[in-house]
Amino acid sequence: MDFKSYIRDIENFPKAGVMFKDITPLLKDANALQKSTEALLDLIGDVKVDKVVGMESRGFFFAPLLASHLNAGFVPVRKPGKLPAKKMSQNYDLEYGTDSLEIHEDAIKKGEKVLVHDDVLATGGTAKATCELIERLGGEIIQCNFLVELQFLNGSGKLNKYHLTSLVQY
Ligand code: IMP
Repeated sequence: MDFKSYIRDIENFPKAGVMFKDITPLLKDANALQKSTEALLDLIGDVKVDKVVGMESRGFFFAPLLASHLNAGFVPVRKPGKLPAKKMSQNYDLEYGTDSLEIHEDAIKKGEKVLVHDDVLATGGTAKATCELIERLGGEIIQCNFLVELQFLNGSGKLNKYHLTSLVQY
């Protein structure tokens, strides 16, 4: 299936100068949603996964679907102030300034095998901070998986110690 035909470019979103990859046409098409889920599972392969971690907010589209197919649990990594229980934070650099992400301290047990999933890998800051949170909890990252990889932004450079897979590349 030509997944790229279900991903549209939106100019100047969320701010001037950014070309946003919008995956909502893929999500709203029953066949494309099913085929892309199957294709992501093929990329992940036959590996044992205890937890799938998805990042707020677009990582939440596929991560629970993948977790369900993999017989794994789903763990959300969220923006500051959203998680209710005891949590851990990780700062990361943005183009201008810093941001942070949070995870519940009891979300992952030491030694658990973790798959990281997000919709888009851009500069890699989000994924790297997420991996740091998982490793601080003692999780073992078996793969970082993305629907879309924006290769021209070199996010893979920040994740070179992990096994990285993506369904479509630009
Ligand atoms: P990074 O931290 O620069 O790799 O940015 C990745 C994060 O920003 C992910 O959580 C994505 O959901 C989001 N993101 C960045 N660019 C896009 C895009 O073009 N479309 C959708 N999400 C994007």
